[in-house]
Amino acid sequence: MTGSNFDTVDALIARYVAGNLPLPAHVLVAAHLEIRTENRPLVTALEDMAGGLLEETTPMAVDDRESRLAAIFSSGDVGAPVARRPRSVMPAVLQDFVGFDVDDVPWRTKLPGLREYDLGEIDGCHATMFWIKPGRKIPAHTHEGSELSLVLDGAFHDFTGRFGRGDIAVADESIDHRPTAETDRPCIGFAVTDAPLRLTGPLTQRLSDMLGF
Ligand code: ZN
Repeated sequence: MTGSNFDTVDALIARYVAGNLPLPAHVLVAAHLEIRTENRPLVTALEDMAGGLLEETTPMAVDDRESRLAAIFSSGDVGAPVARRPRSVMPAVLQDFVGFDVDDVPWRTKLPGLREYDLGEIDGCHATMFWIKPGRKIPAHTHEGSELSLVLDGAFHDFTGRFGRGDIAVADESIDHRPTAETDRPCIGFAVTDAPLRLTGPLTQRLSDMLGF
């Protein structure tokens, strides 16, 4: 994702259709589309456009991409297929990628009220599942690259807006934010970053944010 600019979710979906997203971001958009069926017509329209262009230029490009993705999925590096549960908050494509349904994720406590499951570096990106306690503020930070956060359950908000189930929050170098989980239930999601985060804000706020006060 380095050097790219995800101004909007539509731009992200266009890159998804074009097949040039890193694998974790590709899975994130696929999971979004599994929840947000209303965005599928956009995908179909873009695929039709892309199909027309590809026929004129590189007819093998889509097949190459699909076979590469299939190879990555079958390599075992990204988690074994799991027994899917009906009515899970976790889309099937994400369960397959992560290797767990949401109730079985082996969370690690990163900070009080903040749990993560780190999938590590995949295709040049860092992929994590996150669990935020109701009302918990994430320490204020900015980004050295792109950060995509797909909400699966609950919701969080920052100064750019509110993100509930199925929403993708897009942040980059220009965004300094302090995402806060809503108070009624934990906020669970999947995040993909292509560069480290950098903590911001006054030291006292950083300390209280870290401890979750
Ligand atoms: Zn962020």
